[in-house]
Amino acid sequence: MLTAPLILYENGRIWTGDSELPWAESLAVANGRLLAVGSRDELGWVARRADRVVDLGGNLVLPGFNDAHVHAYEGGKSLLEIDLRSVKSLEDLKQRVKEHSVSLREGEWLTGGNWDHQNWGGHPYPDRHVLDEAAGCRPVLLFRVDWHVAVANTAALRAAGIRRDTPDPPGGEIERDEHGEPTGILKDTAAELVLARAPEPDDARLEEIFLAATGEATRLGVTSLQDNVTPKHFRIYQKLARERKLPARVSCWFPLSNLDDLVDLGIQRNLGGSRLDLGTVKLFADGSLGAGTAYFFEPYADRPDYRGLLLMSREELREALSRISQAGLQAAVHAIGDAANALVLDLFEELGVAESERPRIEHAQTLRDEDVQRMARLGVVASIQPVHAMDDLRWAREKIGERVQQSYRLRSLLEAGVRVAMGTDWPVASLNPMLGLEAASFRHLRLKEDAPLTAEASASEMISVEEAVRLYTLGSAYVQDRDGVKGTLTPGKFADFVVLDRDVFTCEPEELRHT
Ligand SMILES: [Zn+2]
Repeated sequence: MLTAPLILYENGRIWTGDSELPWAESLAVANGRLLAVGSRDELGWVARRADRVVDLGGNLVLPGFNDAHVHAYEGGKSLLEIDLRSVKSLEDLKQRVKEHSVSLREGEWLTGGNWDHQNWGGHPYPDRHVLDEAAGCRPVLLFRVDWHVAVANTAALRAAGIRRDTPDPPGGEIERDEHGEPTGILKDTAAELVLARAPEPDDARLEEIFLAATGEATRLGVTSLQDNVTPKHFRIYQKLARERKLPARVSCWFPLSNLDDLVDLGIQRNLGGSRLDLGTVKLFADGSLGAGTAYFFEPYADRPDYRGLLLMSREELREALSRISQAGLQAAVHAIGDAANALVLDLFEELGVAESERPRIEHAQTLRDEDVQRMARLGVVASIQPVHAMDDLRWAREKIGERVQQSYRLRSLLEAGVRVAMGTDWPVASLNPMLGLEAASFRHLRLKEDAPLTAEASASEMISVEEAVRLYTLGSAYVQDRDGVKGTLTPGKFADFVVLDRDVFTCEPEELRHT
C-alpha cells in the first residue's frame, strides 16, 4: 500500500487561530492535510516516523491568508502590463505610456492603469490628447486605481465608435468637453464600450495571466482567493487545476449576466473540489467613492444636489437576489454608500435570506449605526478591504464630510457581532496582506499627515493585528462556508500556512509592510 509522505514542521511559533490550542510548536502534514498540531513533545511520535523534518527556525507561522475579494484576471494582467500607481503628474504619465508603447507589438492595445489624479491634487483627469501624444494611433485604455473611471485615446474611442453624438450608456458617463467632444474619460459602464473592443487574450495568454496571479498570491502568503470570473476564465482555472498547476485555492464568482446559466444547470454554492469551486453571484448596488457614484442618503459634500447612483433599481436588485437565494447560490453585493448598504440589507431582510446562505456585502464601506446592528441580526457578512481606506480616506472628507466616521467600521462591526471577511479587491489595492493588517490596525498613524481629522475619526475603528489576522483567515473561510476545512491550523484541515520573517503581533507598525 502506498502512503503519502509524512512531513514534520518543528521549532515554530505557530499561531493556530484555534481557541482550543492557540499556540503550538510543531505541525505534522500528510496528503496536504494537517495530521497533528502541538508542542514538540506532543509530536514526538511523528518525529520518529516522519519522512522529512523541516525546521521553522523559530519563526511565526499563521494560517494561510484568504483574500475574500480579488479580480485575479485584472490582477494577473496588471502584473504583465503597465502600472501607473506611482505616477505623480500628467507629464510623468505621458512619459511612461510612451516608453511602454515602444515595447509592444504592432496593433497591440496598450492597456493597464492604476493612475490616480489625487496624486496631482485631484485635477485634472488625463484626457485623450495626452495619450495621443504618447502613443499615437495605438489604441490606449487606462483605468483609474478604482476601476470605475478610465481614459481612452482617440484611436480607442474610434475603435469603440464613440463620437460626440454617442449617448451615455445606462449606468455610465462619456465625459465631454465644452464643445461636446468626448474627452476620453469614461465612467463606469462607459469604459466597457471600449474594453469590449480590445482584442481578447488567447488561451495561452490567459494561462500566463492566471498563473502570474495565483503565483503572486502564494508568494505573498495568500493561499485562497475569492475571485470575480467569467466563464472563459473559469475554463482556464479548470485546466490549471486538472494539470495540478494551480498553487492557490480559488472560489469563483460569476457576474449577474450568468445567473440564468447557473440556475438552468442547478448549480448551488460551493460546488467543486478543494482547489476550485463556484456558486457565488456578484452584483453591484452602487458605484465608487472615487468616481462619485457611491449612493448615499444625503448629498455629496461637494455636490449639494447629488447623492450618487444606484447601478440597479430596487426592483431589479430584489428580483436578482430573490432568484439567487431560491436557487441556492450565494449573493455577493457590492455596496459603498450608506444608502446602497441599507438597501441591500432591506432586501436580504425582506426576502428572508438565511444566515446559512452566507449573504455578503462587498466593501460595506459606509454604514449607519442601525445598519451595523442589522447586519449582525440578519447574519449578513461584511467583506471588507481595509487597505482601500489608506487611499480613499485621504480625500474622502471632501466628498462625504463627517461620514468618514462611518467608513471602514471594523471595530463597530466586531463589537456588534457581525461576521467579517477580509480582502483587498486586488488589483484595486495591493494583494499584500501585510498592508491590509496595517490598514486595519494602524491606518490612523499613516493618515495623520494627509488627513489629520480623518485619522482622528478613524482611530476608534482600529482593531488589533491578531483580530485582523483572524478575519483574514477564519473570517474569509466562514463567508465561503469552508471554515470546516480551512481558516485555522486544526488537525484535519488543509495544511495551508504561511511562515513569516517577523512577528506581526509584536513588531512596530512600520515593520508590518516589510514582513
Ligand atoms: Zn471588486
